[in-house]
Amino acid sequence: MGNSGAVPRILIRGGRVYDHEGDVHQPPQTDILIAGETIERLGQSLPAGDVTEIIDAAGKLVLPGFVNAHYHSHDVMAKGLFEEMPFDIWTLHSNPANYGPRSLEEVRLRTLIGAAESLRNGITTIQDFLTVEPQDEAIVDAVLSAYEEAGIRVVFAIAARDRAALDIAPFMPPDLPEAVRKRVAGSDRKARDELDFIAAQIKRLGLRPTPRQTWALAPSAPQRCSQQLLEGIAALSRAHDLPVFTHVYETRIQAAAARREGSVSSLLDVLAAAGLLTEKLGIVHGVWLTTDEIAQIAEAGSCVIHNPVSNLKLKSGVAPILDLHRAGVDIALGCDNYSCAETQNIFIAMRLLCLLPAVTDPAPGPISAAYALKAATLAGARAVGLSNAIGAIKPGMMADLIILDLNESAFVPFNSAARQIVFSESGRAVETVLVGGRPVVRGGKLVAIDEAALAVAVEKIAPAFRRDAQALADRNADLMAPLLSAGREAWKVPLGFERYISRGSS
Ligand SMILES: [Zn+2]
Repeated sequence: MGNSGAVPRILIRGGRVYDHEGDVHQPPQTDILIAGETIERLGQSLPAGDVTEIIDAAGKLVLPGFVNAHYHSHDVMAKGLFEEMPFDIWTLHSNPANYGPRSLEEVRLRTLIGAAESLRNGITTIQDFLTVEPQDEAIVDAVLSAYEEAGIRVVFAIAARDRAALDIAPFMPPDLPEAVRKRVAGSDRKARDELDFIAAQIKRLGLRPTPRQTWALAPSAPQRCSQQLLEGIAALSRAHDLPVFTHVYETRIQAAAARREGSVSSLLDVLAAAGLLTEKLGIVHGVWLTTDEIAQIAEAGSCVIHNPVSNLKLKSGVAPILDLHRAGVDIALGCDNYSCAETQNIFIAMRLLCLLPAVTDPAPGPISAAYALKAATLAGARAVGLSNAIGAIKPGMMADLIILDLNESAFVPFNSAARQIVFSESGRAVETVLVGGRPVVRGGKLVAIDEAALAVAVEKIAPAFRRDAQALADRNADLMAPLLSAGREAWKVPLGFERYISRGSS
């Protein structure tokens, strides 16, 4: 072949290769031949004739790379700053709009930190739902170039919202001082400006800014967007065939607010009216969905992105995994942001996906380890608009692969690939990672990023971020009591179903 010299060809030899449809406990040994960015062939004892590299995978397990279908890189610097904050208090402390502008160096470093941890934990595709604050294309460029530097695949979305009020605003005490009320209400923006900025970035950078980068759309939440904004996003989605993500019913307060007199009855209806409730939609969180709304999602063919760690850390409740699954809704997984979930580790998300159904249902069920592996790969791929490109190890698909060392303690003795990946592994066995045929982690270390140097650079800018976070907390101090009071007020709105357990029979 005339171009065979130009395209790198990698042979991964002798590894056990995980196949969703095969033996998920004892995957058989198979060789993988990669040509350029795709998997060319699978087979026994493939010839090494014209390959540029052989990766010896004997005693190892090869998996499709994981898809983190929900993440925000804007608050990486806030990792470990908060705890014991219910959602509405957390959002006040973590919303980028409440911080001053950040330097492009901070933007680059924070993006690299998230990308680095993701890759080392086998996440080869990340959906970054980024609040660009202020809306400046230099920030977009800094983020995308940092992802490219790390070598991770990114499905990039610029968050859009034109309604600034806190979700909890309808329940705030009526006698709030004017200054406090203003902070709860925020400053609305123009739908047109939000849409123009996003459309301009897509036009400027193209639908595939690099071979590893694609776009999604990200209206923050139905209650944070005008109908005009949601319709504009739906039009962009149709025009460019882009997936859409939006936060829906993450908290009980959001569900209660939707039921207030004079408000809409269902946020799903709002999405449907805007033309967004389609198979391109990823419902993020979906903790407080009713049975009817779950049926509506199933009917539309939308999927749900389950973020079990942030749902628990922000005290939002337990998503109705079994109900969604029984209704036929695809469930993908997200690790969510650092300020509310602290780690980009989908092993933990898979484990919680499997374990949480037991809080409501004692019977054996369908959410198995093999199912969790599909959620972290195939369902994620579908959610981010990359079905048939990533999520499984098959000829013609992208060579986004993880190689796990089966000598690590999580896999000794090796009884079941699926179960030990989900219930035993933490990320420590991740030895080699490829994205689009390019090795980005070797020997457990990033190829393109010096993590020690990254840590030094980040420590230089971290004190300034911590000072800004403290100043923000000080400014917000007088809002804490009214927010907690509003939370209690919202609890009085009956929903007719429960997403917490053991609250007793009051
Ligand atoms: Zn989110």
